[in-house]
Amino acid sequence: MLLSFKTELKPNNQQVTKFRQHCGVARHAFNWGNSVVLEALAARETDNTVKIPSAIDLHKRLVAEVKPLYPWYYESSKASPQQALAELRTAWDRCFKKVSKQPRFKKKGASGDSFYLEQGTKAKPGINNDGKRVKLPKIGWVRLHEPLPITASHNCVISRKADRWFIAFKCEIELPEVLPDRPAVGVDIGIKQLAVCSSGQTFANLSAYRRMSRKLKRLQRRVSKRVKGSSNRKKAVSRLAKLHLKVSNIRKDAIHKLTAYLAKNHSEVKIEDLNVKAFLKNHKLAGAIADCGMYEFKRQLEYKTQKFSSKLTLVDRFFPSSQICSTCGKHRQKMPLKVRVFECPNCGQVQDRDLNAAKNIERWFEGIFIPERSELAVSSTASACGVGKLG
Ligand SMILES: [Zn+2]
Repeated sequence: MLLSFKTELKPNNQQVTKFRQHCGVARHAFNWGNSVVLEALAARETDNTVKIPSAIDLHKRLVAEVKPLYPWYYESSKASPQQALAELRTAWDRCFKKVSKQPRFKKKGASGDSFYLEQGTKAKPGINNDGKRVKLPKIGWVRLHEPLPITASHNCVISRKADRWFIAFKCEIELPEVLPDRPAVGVDIGIKQLAVCSSGQTFANLSAYRRMSRKLKRLQRRVSKRVKGSSNRKKAVSRLAKLHLKVSNIRKDAIHKLTAYLAKNHSEVKIEDLNVKAFLKNHKLAGAIADCGMYEFKRQLEYKTQKFSSKLTLVDRFFPSSQICSTCGKHRQKMPLKVRVFECPNCGQVQDRDLNAAKNIERWFEGIFIPERSELAVSSTASACGVGKLG
């Protein structure tokens, strides 16, 4: 099965310059092609024999008319502008079919900077990785942020997000066998726990991780107290760096274990599309997921669910998963963070806040009934037995 990977790169400064060059070439070709198509469309207003150039036509013209004018084209892979023109033409096709709007000119420095590379063929792919680095045409060996299975691909897309660079490619892997009749699961990224599943399964926040986070803070303070340039400061800095690495490894390990468990044992994994919510309550969380960001959790789930032939569903981020009673589905109440138990005055169900949320996430579907929030006060017993201290 073809599996898509997207992972972060660690390019050096020279490589970043080359990446930016490639982005520039792709953007230039796209914008040039767009103006050619627009001209053809304008000419057709008066003469309906004018043909809208195909992607191949555009590329031929680019090679003949544009490249000689801009020698920097030759410093980049020829696949990048070619693919940009193909994408432009697909965008116009979608526009002609009224599926999407007219493609717009790309601005320099826009968030969607990316380019395409190609080497070899499908049968004999030329973009190899050795597990730690990937070899890109015209650019050379670029370090990977995390190890990958050793594979080869015949094409890839490099993209930028802020000042971070990512590579996306597809490669052939053998799928592991999975059990039939796996249930669906809803997952609540916990406050007290790392994660709570609708099945009742919980993943505890690692105490080792918490302990080390405290130690980290202590070391940070120590570094700032030492005199700049002193050998004591150097010692403290190197200790701090080592601990940072250790903490990040524990965190990664925990998230890898959690995402592998979810993808392997469930036919469908539902999580909240938390980008907004996570940031709103982030400072109250102390878990590994909160620290490394939902992005990593989601990214791992994306490829692992593919690998284990299950499905990842993102629940609408405005779905009030913690406020609705998961048993009767008819009652909704305010749930301040300190309230740890959900008590339903409608059906009498009493259960852990996070488990209730996970069950709601599991129940979610497009068009689910969401009750109006009741103004009934949150039960005092519920807040009294709330766990006061968050790690
Ligand atoms: Zn209820």
